[in-house]
Amino acid sequence: MSLTMICPLCDGPDVPIAKWLTSNTPVLDCPTCGRFALDGAYQPEVKLLADDRWRVSAVTRYMSLRGAPVLLALGTADDGCVGFACVSALELVQTRFPHSVGERLDRALANVARLSRHLGAIVPLGRRQSWSVFFAQNDGEAFWVAKALGTAGYITTSAHTGGFHLSLTASGWNRVAELEREGGQETSEQAFVAMWFGSDKETIGDRTSQDFCTDAFLGGFQSAIAAAGYRAMRVDFKEFNDDIMDHVVAEIRRSRFVVADFTGHRPGVYYEAGFARGLGLPVIFTCNKDHFHSTHFDTNHMNHLIWESVDVLANKLCNRIRATIGQGPIGETEK
Ligand SMILES: [Zn+2]
Repeated sequence: MSLTMICPLCDGPDVPIAKWLTSNTPVLDCPTCGRFALDGAYQPEVKLLADDRWRVSAVTRYMSLRGAPVLLALGTADDGCVGFACVSALELVQTRFPHSVGERLDRALANVARLSRHLGAIVPLGRRQSWSVFFAQNDGEAFWVAKALGTAGYITTSAHTGGFHLSLTASGWNRVAELEREGGQETSEQAFVAMWFGSDKETIGDRTSQDFCTDAFLGGFQSAIAAAGYRAMRVDFKEFNDDIMDHVVAEIRRSRFVVADFTGHRPGVYYEAGFARGLGLPVIFTCNKDHFHSTHFDTNHMNHLIWESVDVLANKLCNRIRATIGQGPIGETEK
């Protein structure tokens, strides 16, 4: 087997292959995109992303710098491989690429901090490598980000033809510490589950739909979310007296991400998923296999995680959360 390949994300030549997860799944150590694995069968689809590959490259670099490399594969392959969370390129970008310029600058700064070996260290960054570290799509954007971080007093920078030499200032390190401390929703440990509650007058197989939904919540959603390091919140499990929508909205705002399950096709689930996306929160779409054929057309392209049993749901969802959101702040429980 070859020892190098052309990087499918950045087209970098002679990128070392660190190892093979399977005979068709290399792990690449790309100087631009960081460490990531790629399902060989999925490679043609990555190529089709063409002009959007720079976003994927920036996110794989970000994940790699945090010691959480991803395995790029079809969204339907949720099994993952040891140490690699499995995710499609599209979903990775949708859930992990910064939503605003401010967030881009913060993450670029955090990347430089990760690359700094010690206080005062000079980080040499090649021209092409700076694109992914700065979440930039070309030299112009990379230069702009470097300048913005410099103007804010967070880094000192000297540009040269081959790229940049960067160093974090004391203000830069303070800002990184601040980001790690606060992080806003980034550090929330709550995951909001938007789902059907079922009814005791309706049956699915030999039980009520209410029991079906409770089992799915406890054994599937809650269990997967806990294993991924978060706390699951389902609004009907909470005591309240006034307007339910105020509670729903408040709980979504307070959450790190939302899991929207379309089993039973409740209008509330569509509403909650839309509201969360409007806030810029990651939303993971799921649906029971028997209900999937009739989901609303507007969400059909959202790469639903399809589950046929509660165990499958727990496994797939845990992997999807780790890949797209990252391991959460609550004590690591290995699944
Ligand atoms: Zn690359």
